[in-house]
Amino acid sequence: MDKIVSLCRRRGFVFPSSEIYGGLGSSYDYGHYGVLLKENVKARWLEAMVREREDIVALDSAIVLHPHVWEVSGHVGGFTDPLVDCRFCKKRFRADQLDAAQCGQRPSKHPGEAPDCDLTEARHFNLMFETRVGPMEESGTKVYLRPETAQGIFINFKNVAQLARRKPPFGIAQVGKSFRNEITPGNFIFRTLEFEQMEMEFFVPPDEADEWYRYWIDERRAWYLRLGIRESHLRVRPHDADELSHYSSATSDIEYLYPIGWSELEGIANRGDFDLTAHTAASGTKLEWVDSGSGERYTPHVIEPAAGLNRSMLAFLCDAYDEEEVAERERTVLRLHPLIAPVKAAVLPLIPRDAAITEKARALYEQLRRSLAVEYDDGGQIGRRYRRQDEIGTPWALTVDEQTLEDDTVTIRDRDSLAQERIPIAGAREVLLDRLDEPWQSPKAD
Ligand code: ATP
Repeated sequence: MDKIVSLCRRRGFVFPSSEIYGGLGSSYDYGHYGVLLKENVKARWLEAMVREREDIVALDSAIVLHPHVWEVSGHVGGFTDPLVDCRFCKKRFRADQLDAAQCGQRPSKHPGEAPDCDLTEARHFNLMFETRVGPMEESGTKVYLRPETAQGIFINFKNVAQLARRKPPFGIAQVGKSFRNEITPGNFIFRTLEFEQMEMEFFVPPDEADEWYRYWIDERRAWYLRLGIRESHLRVRPHDADELSHYSSATSDIEYLYPIGWSELEGIANRGDFDLTAHTAASGTKLEWVDSGSGERYTPHVIEPAAGLNRSMLAFLCDAYDEEEVAERERTVLRLHPLIAPVKAAVLPLIPRDAAITEKARALYEQLRRSLAVEYDDGGQIGRRYRRQDEIGTPWALTVDEQTLEDDTVTIRDRDSLAQERIPIAGAREVLLDRLDEPWQSPKAD
């Protein structure tokens, strides 16, 4: 993980937040390549969930909702972590994760194991951030920053079902920020105070719930594999009965083998009719499906694939990170699927001092940037420039050299195989688009 954190910092993917003030734990800022990578992952999710399907529509609900939403959903009462404090070292730990925590004393042990450890009883601590709506702190209404995007979907069920003219089975998908006052230290962007979720609520006739639950587990697993995650590093783990949330009759986690061990990447839950029924009872608005032809009415059951955008990005980074020796020199390379790589191709003039070469290279760059994320780089030796692109995961580099001036061809270098071939400048865009379309498999060993 340290190597990934250091690469992310070195290449401007992710920085610790508020760094000039000493940082804020579990909070990160995303730099240029981090934004591009994250946006690409999000775009692939929206493409698979919305654009390529007729049965799912998009939604963007507010972050601050009516406070009743969180009472009815069970979050005000039950969205808690059990915490213990150590009276001796003054540190705070998750009571259910003492085995993974480090005691505040040296030599460090697990909390409770050193002779001076003096742990309190576990207390429940709500994970929702509170704030107020209204001009005066005292008189304003207490509201919450949403801890999940799902509730914004449930409370809009009636609006969307009517306007989108869909009948179950159909889904509503949303990507957006969620906030949780997490106290366990972060493991980089795996667990942060604010993060983006990619959630989809799929509303189905009750007797089809189990079938759709299994369908979505397979679909979501396949999505990660299509985007190049190695099969050996992905697994589906069904929850035991005692792990299930209050609303769920079945949940499976898709887990990735992060450097910190197997951990949740996405959860797929069969939420039954819990949410629609609870919001119907509390709001008086019937959140049910009524067939206008037959008059049949029922409350749909819900299957929810809930993924974390930042956690997926971390999984893609971990899966892609590689080091190898080429011509007796170490190279670090991000073997990202070309579709999610922040930059698809770099255009490099071999001899930056040569005006004719740079002119050709800039013209190629200007042409390509209209349809692809490309980068022009004329700073430093060519080997250094290749290494820079390898580290940010750019799958192809197009090099303009003296021969280009004679025959209008460029070399295309492949990030993974390092193979170089000459292609006509005129067909460069098509070559890149064709290669982007091809299925891709990680060349990294398991
Ligand atoms: P965990 O058990 O790791 O706290 P969770 O089961 O509470 O996660 P869900 O409520 O199912 O998580 O949220 C769906 C997804 O949102 C998770 O699979 C994860 O990818 C992401 N997620 C949840 N909490 C965080 C967080 N604090 N930081 C980053 N991503 C998160």
